[in-house]
Amino acid sequence: MSDSANDIILLTRDLRKTYFSSGGEVEVLRGVSIGVSRGEIAAIVGPSGVGKSTLLNLIGALDRPSSGEVLINGEDLFSKNDDELAEFRNSTIGFIFQFHHLLPELSAFENVMLPALLAGKPKELIHERTTSLLNDVGLSERGSHKPSELSGGERQRVAIARAIVNDPKLILADEPTGNLDRENAEEMYELIWKLREENQQTFLIVTHNEELANKTDRIIRLVDGYIKE
Ligand code: ADP
Ligand code: MG
Repeated sequence: MSDSANDIILLTRDLRKTYFSSGGEVEVLRGVSIGVSRGEIAAIVGPSGVGKSTLLNLIGALDRPSSGEVLINGEDLFSKNDDELAEFRNSTIGFIFQFHHLLPELSAFENVMLPALLAGKPKELIHERTTSLLNDVGLSERGSHKPSELSGGERQRVAIARAIVNDPKLILADEPTGNLDRENAEEMYELIWKLREENQQTFLIVTHNEELANKTDRIIRLVDGYIKE
């Protein structure tokens, strides 16, 4: 009990998000407070349009909330300025999207190494790390391929390697298996569980996939702007 507070990697406090658009005001998140422990794999589920991506984007500091706080490793994200936030995000948080978001002009190898280059790590180290990651995700023979020359499953594995190249402690995945067939989806889960075991990484996964959700340590349900666990 006494140590548990130290094991919290992510905390959101009364997180709210309202979008304003020509169609009017949409109150998507109405006070979301969650805590996620280090090494936990949690699923976020809920109907389409409920605000799952919105929540993940706030936690990953891709967008700012209307009010409320996000603390990662005890650091309050939205008290940082844009530069500080970009640096924090690049070193602490990994993102995996449904549509891989790989850069089409770059090879698999270059896509994976990019966040490490941005972090200013030594070139030799980056090469070593990228080579070993491509090997870990079973793509050591595909480093020179562009995304268009890879299968859907392979692209998602490149996207995972890219997400973890800086060894982030928290990995956010938005429907990572949404475009994969069953076999590739299963490979993806195996990879996620392996990473947790080897690196104590924490995963927050938005998914429609019941099978994946049921394997996680915890299911966080988003209903009408609130959390139901
Ligand atoms: P989910 O990922 O659960 O399907 P989203 O978080 O993408 O849901 O969207 C939640 C709601 O917010 C939807 O009604 C969507 O139309 C609306 N929304 C999302 N992004 C914006 C935006 N940038 N501007 C206005 N409305 C948005
Ligand atoms: Mg979404």
